[in-house]
Amino acid sequence: MRSFPRLAEAVFGAAGPARYEIRFELDEQGQAVARGRVSMVLLMTCQRCLGEFEVPVDAPIALGLVHLRGAPDRLGLAQVEGLAGDLEPLPLGDDEPVRVLDWVEDELLLALPQVPMHPAGHCMAEVAPAASEMAAERPRNPFAALAALQARQPGPEADEH
Ligand SMILES: [Zn+2]
Repeated sequence: MRSFPRLAEAVFGAAGPARYEIRFELDEQGQAVARGRVSMVLLMTCQRCLGEFEVPVDAPIALGLVHLRGAPDRLGLAQVEGLAGDLEPLPLGDDEPVRVLDWVEDELLLALPQVPMHPAGHCMAEVAPAASEMAAERPRNPFAALAALQARQPGPEADEH
């Protein structure tokens, strides 16, 4: 996580290292493109029960490298219009070093759930409401439930044989 200071602030921790692959290519329009994927298993705090849980993140990377020539304020819609629909514009300055790990971190941050919560059925906070639902739904025939219970637990006379 030392490589991802912003991510470290947003999550509880990581259950493993980030795996990513990025390849650079020129598309049909001659646009420099960086494509790949990033995946990582992060630990987040559930907003319902405040327990930790694993959040597997798997996000595509699709960046159109937009070269900025001196004037950052000129980066308007016109300049990114030419990008293919799925590409996110990535403005690059003349002197800026290319920091691939920053892009990876950006994609991980974007892929995080807005409100982290356990998947349905796994949250500790769900236990209480589920129990009260059970109580409300009593079996229609209490004797049927009793018979089922007796069938599972043989009485003491069964041990005498
Ligand atoms: Zn939870």
